[in-house]
Amino acid sequence: MRSVPDSDRITLTIDRRRVEGRSGQTVLDVCREADIRVPTLCHDPRLEPSGACRLCLVQIEGMRGFPPSCSTLATDGMVVTTVSEDLTELRRSVVELLLSDHELSCLTCDSAGACALQNIAYELGITWSPFDGERHRTWEAADGALIERDYAKCIACGRCVRICQEVQGCNVYGFTDRGFEFLPNTPYGSALADAGCEFCGQCVSTCPVGALTDKLSRFKGRLWEVQRVETTCGYCGVGCTVEYRVKDGRIVGAAAPLERGVNRGNLCAKGRYGWGFTHHPDRLTAPLVRKDGELVETSWHDAIAVVAANLARIRDEHGPDTVAGLSSAKCTNEENYLFQKLLRAAIGTHNVDHCARL
Ligand code: SF4
Ligand code: SF4
Ligand code: SF4
Repeated sequence: MRSVPDSDRITLTIDRRRVEGRSGQTVLDVCREADIRVPTLCHDPRLEPSGACRLCLVQIEGMRGFPPSCSTLATDGMVVTTVSEDLTELRRSVVELLLSDHELSCLTCDSAGACALQNIAYELGITWSPFDGERHRTWEAADGALIERDYAKCIACGRCVRICQEVQGCNVYGFTDRGFEFLPNTPYGSALADAGCEFCGQCVSTCPVGALTDKLSRFKGRLWEVQRVETTCGYCGVGCTVEYRVKDGRIVGAAAPLERGVNRGNLCAKGRYGWGFTHHPDRLTAPLVRKDGELVETSWHDAIAVVAANLARIRDEHGPDTVAGLSSAKCTNEENYLFQKLLRAAIGTHNVDHCARL
């Protein structure tokens, strides 16, 4: 962990506990690092705070009202309360209002078990909403095979709008309409592909409820049914940390942990949705060599022997510079070093390059 200069250290009292923090942190950051639970719906550490959901409200001595902890800077000597009757009452009202305009289909919702709204309702013991009235219309989007949008479950937290703008730089969504019709939508309600979407799934990854979900994972396994297997994405040299969701020995989805890896929760379209090849019937699972015009399965030993013999023949008959090698960003530095060594020392050519330059 990074060492903190003394001048940056601050001390707060949170729920009568002395807690250390760093200048520049928000009250929510300090609480999270100290394992003090403050509920949130619109917060994502990848995004600038927006203070929209009003769930992370706290009480701070010397401050009026109930400031949102996600956008209030922590200062030395601050005295914070995160749990009180007033705060619980406020949070209950927020959740009850959200539930009054929410299609509660937890039975079949792919977010059940991972849904922040479901979790906070459970935590507060909310079994029904006392508020009644008009509900948002359901809305079908023709968005292709990857992303499901169901605005009947949207809680207007704005996370999809912000991640697409702040992290992805795509600006696919904006807040459209006003008042009750307010939605995080594409311009003129167009399909995602027509609005410049890269199908990275970042908006799905940040949506705290079931309004945005992965179509590839639909009905394939709830969070508590899958095994989570953390690995390194094999698609490019960035080496993002990816967490595959595995059920019955098959990958059914991919995500990225927020707190680890170079990517800190972010993935591109290939990392998030490009796992279908693992179980694809066309996937090559054994080396093939051509015999009498037909590709036939063989062992790695025999395949390498065929390649080595042909490379040697071409080098001897036509000269070493008739051979070229193209390596991969998916290999380690050591593997790439050995590859160029093979081309230079065994074949005798400097014709060696790397896919990252293409
Ligand atoms: S989004 Fe959450 S609360 Fe809504 S139906 Fe899905 S699991 Fe239930
Ligand atoms: S998939 Fe990526 S580019 Fe498309 S709307 Fe979501 S965040 Fe934006
Ligand atoms: S779609 Fe999801 S992320 Fe976007 S505003 Fe609605 S609830 Fe928030």
